[in-house]
Amino acid sequence: MVDPALLAEDGIRDYDMFVDGGHVEATSGNRFAVEYPYTREQWATVPRAGPDDVDRAIGAARETFESEAWQSLTATERGELLYALADIIDGRIDELAPAESLGNGKPLAESEGQITSLATRLRYYAGLADKITGDTIPVDADDTFTFTRREPYGVVGAITPYNSPLSLSGFKIPPAVAAGNTVVLKPSEETPVSSILLAELAAEAGWPDGVLNVVTGMGETGAALTGNADVDVVTFTGGVETGRKVAEAAGRNLTPVLLELGGKSPNIIFPDADLDAAVGGAIRGIFASAGQTCVAGSRLFLHDDVHDEFLDRLVERAEEMVLGDPFEEDTDVGPVISADAKSRIQRFVDGALEEGATLLTGGSPRDDLQGGLCYPPTVLADVTDEMEVACDEVFGPVLSVLSFEAEDEALERANDTSYGLAAGVWTNDVSRALRFTEELEAGNVWVNTYRQLSMTTPFGGYKDSGIGRENGIEGIEEFLQTKSVRMDYAEDRADTQYP
Ligand code: NDP
Repeated sequence: MVDPALLAEDGIRDYDMFVDGGHVEATSGNRFAVEYPYTREQWATVPRAGPDDVDRAIGAARETFESEAWQSLTATERGELLYALADIIDGRIDELAPAESLGNGKPLAESEGQITSLATRLRYYAGLADKITGDTIPVDADDTFTFTRREPYGVVGAITPYNSPLSLSGFKIPPAVAAGNTVVLKPSEETPVSSILLAELAAEAGWPDGVLNVVTGMGETGAALTGNADVDVVTFTGGVETGRKVAEAAGRNLTPVLLELGGKSPNIIFPDADLDAAVGGAIRGIFASAGQTCVAGSRLFLHDDVHDEFLDRLVERAEEMVLGDPFEEDTDVGPVISADAKSRIQRFVDGALEEGATLLTGGSPRDDLQGGLCYPPTVLADVTDEMEVACDEVFGPVLSVLSFEAEDEALERANDTSYGLAAGVWTNDVSRALRFTEELEAGNVWVNTYRQLSMTTPFGGYKDSGIGRENGIEGIEEFLQTKSVRMDYAEDRADTQYP
């Protein structure tokens, strides 16, 4: 059952967009419905914004950015706005987490954890807001003072995906606003509500009107945002092909673009590893969020010496996972986002079986469970590097198991992909671990752990997995541009300084 606290009496609640400090409809009056993936009940409607609505939100963000009130706010005061929002979020997890789980079907405990991480990121960047400094720079000239200023760009256009809307907006909004920018956020059409609630809470925390604007829509909203020349930075998290379109649109306007795209991440197990821990890491790496995570460790490379034993333990653990109702405390794996996603996952599994993979567990949806979108943890053995399931992102709970004999071989095959978001290696040999950290072509490498992220640590992809970094100090740098200033303080400014 859908959480009753979030539902109106007729079962569907209408939400409006949040622009310039207030709720707004789309100018067309069009709306669309949002489904709870577990039961497939419609539980909310939101406006379907057109390009005019997006322009209006960008205009509000621009006006606020240029306003005397925003420009005269000190960096410390900006930080205080972020702290205030973090405090409010802490007290409203009971409201935000169900909205997140109704949107994407994540187990409630996972949504709660992600919302806590949003508050944590707000505090991290709140603390950084007044630590943005330039440099003084030596130049080859007398009586000259050269320094840099770090300045915000202006309006940031942000697009977040369905799998973790609030958590991923925490990668974007806190650093963007701490740096002094204003934001137009466009959440996925599948999960728009939690972002609207976030903007409402920001207003409650005293954020000036127009600092955080949320537009909801589908089909044309994202392109209207990324294609608008009045957006000064574009930040997008989503799939590779959409990322290319976003980069093309931003490129036409010569707008800086930050892309966090997908992955096909290797998780490599050596016989000398702590195998219990490695089994746990492999399980969490692929089955958390029903496999709908960009860093999913979807290619498990098992050394021949431990292959069979490891798989026995892994399959046993996978089969113990509880599938079903996101609002039940013991649920490990909720539904996937949509019927399309379920069909796509099934196509990958069927294709792998036709190509010669062996199904060890899972492999077909649990149509008997509520709306039929629960897909069980699935383990495919005997996968080879060429199979589609080993090359493309499934974005579902499907683990491809590949075997290897030698270290060099594992490394070469792990890197043989256009993606480069994450990689894991499990070994107690320090030298080997260091060799892998050096050689793995991925923006995030884990040794003897997997899928651990921190707001203090830069996160992003190599190769087709993205451009730029989120989190950490690098995360705020993406939203700042550098102005170099050179001052001549000589008493006698001779013409000779202009050769
Ligand atoms: P999509 O790539 O399908 O992106 C969907 C979003 O992009 C929608 O908001 C859509 O809005 C917008 N969009 C579509 N076309 C354009 C365009 N031409 N210009 C601008 N915006 C556009 O991703 P999903 O939401 O389905 O998320 C799943 C993907 O996200 C997976 O591939 C996963 O790997 C990746 N991901 C990456 C993460 C990372 O950090 N690297 C984290 C989480 C997910 P509209 O319909 O209005 O156009």
